[in-house]
Amino acid sequence: MKQYQLVVRSDAFSQQIAKMYHQELTAQGWQSSEQAKLVIAIGGDGTMLEAFHRYYQPDVAFVGLHTGRLGFYADWDRGEAEDLLGHILHSEPKIAEYPLIEITFELKDEKRHFYALNETIIKSKNLSTFVMEVWINEKRFESFRGDGMILSTPSGSTAYNHSVGGAILHPAFEAMQVAELAAINNREFRTLNRPFILPQPHLLDLYPQNPGRDILVGIDGQEYSFSGLVCVRAKVAEAKVRFARYRPFPFWQRVREKFLDN
Ligand code: NAP
Repeated sequence: MKQYQLVVRSDAFSQQIAKMYHQELTAQGWQSSEQAKLVIAIGGDGTMLEAFHRYYQPDVAFVGLHTGRLGFYADWDRGEAEDLLGHILHSEPKIAEYPLIEITFELKDEKRHFYALNETIIKSKNLSTFVMEVWINEKRFESFRGDGMILSTPSGSTAYNHSVGGAILHPAFEAMQVAELAAINNREFRTLNRPFILPQPHLLDLYPQNPGRDILVGIDGQEYSFSGLVCVRAKVAEAKVRFARYRPFPFWQRVREKFLDN
C-alpha cells in the first residue's frame, strides 16, 4: 500500500487543499502514515522546513505545494493542486538530492547533533561582541569578533545567507558556505571578512571565547539557547535530502522565478 504524509500550513486555503488530498489519496487506496516515504508540504518554505525536521530520513522524499509567500522549495503553485495530485497518483517522480549540513554542539556534559536544510546561525544571546576561534580542518584559521556566523547549505544559500551578501550556490556543490555577521575589522581585529565555501569533507570548528555566556543557535528558523558551549563542529553531511520531482524545475529557473520575476 502506498503511504503519504502531509504537513500543512494553518491557513484556511492550505487546510482545504489538505482535506481534498486526504480524501482523494485514501479513495485511491493510499494511507496516511508517519513512516511514509513521500511527504507533501502544503504552505511556504517554513512548512517545508517543518516537514524536513519532522520526517527527515535519507529515504524519504519531499514535495512542496506553494500556498505561502515565496515557496523557494516548492515546485507547484497554489493553482496546481490537482495537477500535483494527479502526478502523485499516476506517475513516478525523479529524485533530486540536495546537500545538508551536519552540526554538533559540544556542551559541558553532552553533545547535540542536528541536520540543517537551510542553515545554522550561531550568535551571542546578548548585545556584546561575540568572540570565536575559527578552525578549519583542525588548524587555526582566524579569530572572529562580531555578531556571529551563518553556515548555509547550497539550497539555503538563497535564504538568510543571501541577506548578508553570501553567494548563491547550486546544490550540485557538496559544500557549506560560511558568512560572517557584522565582523569587526580594523587594525586591532581582522577576519577574512568575506563569505567562504568549504567542500565535503572539510571540518569547521568554532570555539566560543565568552565563558559563561549563553549562545543563541538557529537551525532552519528554530531557536535554541545553549550555555556552556565548548565547540561547534560543522561539515557537509554525507546523507542528503531527497525531493520528489514530478516535472523538471532546474535550480537556476527557481532562482530566477523567485528572485527576479515580478
Ligand atoms: P520567516 O521569517 O517566516 O521567513 C523568512 C523568509 O525566507 C520567507 O519568505 C521564506 O519563504 C524564505 N525562505 C526560507 N527558506 C528559503 C530558501 N531556502 N530560499 C529562499 N527563501 C527562503 O521564517 P520561515 O518561513 O520559518 O523560514 C526560516 C528561514 O528564515 C531561516 O532558515 C532563515 O534562512 C530565514 N531567515 C532569514 C533572515 C534574514 O534574511 N535576515 C532572518 C531570519 C531568518 P516562505 O515565504 O515561502 O516561507
